[in-house]
Amino acid sequence: MPDDETGALYQQMILDHARERHGAGLADEAAVAVTNHQINPTCGDEVTIQLEVDGDLIADVHWDGVGCSISQASASMLHDVVRGLTTAQARARLDAFRTMLRSRGADEGDADLLDDAVALAGVARYPARVKCAMLGWVALEVALEELAA
Ligand code: ZN
Repeated sequence: MPDDETGALYQQMILDHARERHGAGLADEAAVAVTNHQINPTCGDEVTIQLEVDGDLIADVHWDGVGCSISQASASMLHDVVRGLTTAQARARLDAFRTMLRSRGADEGDADLLDDAVALAGVARYPARVKCAMLGWVALEVALEELAA
């Protein structure tokens, strides 16, 4: 569990991403390989993820959404994490993120894998908010499955 100083830093990172929204704004459908939209009815969050691919590489990630700062910050962090990775690498990051969020606080997350998304580690202690944090990543998961199909 992060100490108070780390907790405050993480809180600031979440607010910064929710405001700055890295990669937000949808691309023309013709430019993307796959689009997926997910909703979290318990909180009213919505996130759409688009992947541009070049061979097996995720060349770019576009997203848009509405909802709470956790859901929107998480999508912004996702953009930074998976852009430029192979689909297999992105899948591994997604698995690491989900493991952290399901750990109820036991897994602080690996910053080498999850970059700024480790700031969401504390959300694992609030089961009602885990769906907010997972929303964009579930959209990524479905998008990756569609790409593989
Ligand atoms: Zn939410």
